[in-house]
Amino acid sequence: MGVPTLGCRCAVCTSSDPHDRRLRPSVLIRWPEPNSSPTHAGSAERIVVIDTGPDFREQALRSGLTRLDAVFYTHAHADHILGLDDLRPLSFTVFREGGPIPLYASAETAADLQRIFDYTFSPQATYPTRARVRLEPLGALTAVYGVDFLRVPVKHGELQIAGFRFGRAAYLTDVSAIPESSFALLEGLDYLVLSALRHKPHPNHATVEQAVSWARRIGARQTWLTHIAHELGHEQTNRTLPDGIRLAYDGLEFPVDLDPVNL
Ligand SMILES: [Zn+2]
Ligand SMILES: [Zn+2]
Repeated sequence: MGVPTLGCRCAVCTSSDPHDRRLRPSVLIRWPEPNSSPTHAGSAERIVVIDTGPDFREQALRSGLTRLDAVFYTHAHADHILGLDDLRPLSFTVFREGGPIPLYASAETAADLQRIFDYTFSPQATYPTRARVRLEPLGALTAVYGVDFLRVPVKHGELQIAGFRFGRAAYLTDVSAIPESSFALLEGLDYLVLSALRHKPHPNHATVEQAVSWARRIGARQTWLTHIAHELGHEQTNRTLPDGIRLAYDGLEFPVDLDPVNL
């Protein structure tokens, strides 16, 4: 829901700590593409985003996003997709060579996106400045300009949704259970971003305690908890977490080794 949560005046929602202001979850991965000729403005940087929630525009402005090579979707709930329309300017040919922006999504997620953004995806769509985007099937492994994005299936209540591993980092949001087979895809991580909603159980989301126990099993050097509800104050919660596990915060950046991994 974002923090402050609309209508709430609790201690976290009224906190003056900037870490307690949270937009909806998303992550941006950027890397230089060494063997390409320079493209935009002399830069061969490649940029991928996971999910475009309702806050995508604000997040894109904050991170200075000027172009985008691909989007991966975890699932089609509102807090992960409603910024899709803000891909429009980034997708127009005046700003982008190489055709529509590929959107990688499972068949289920793609069907929801096509329904919700009918005016973008329908073959009958006539809106002249609709986003130039193209749905692409999400396989077990997707290579984007030399970086492998590995799909890591997780459960979100009854839904099976996608987490992602890229090099020595993984991003798993909206998790209520991790299938046994997915733990094998999470070996040897430097960084794990993992969702933890609050302390009170929720049918579709892990509690902090559950996330901490998965984080310990996965054993990344550092785990960042995300998708945090207003029940969790930043400082106060961090004081209770074990070494190597902390609440993530908006604008957090860290370097990731993106070399392909042999699992
Ligand atoms: Zn609140
Ligand atoms: Zn969510």
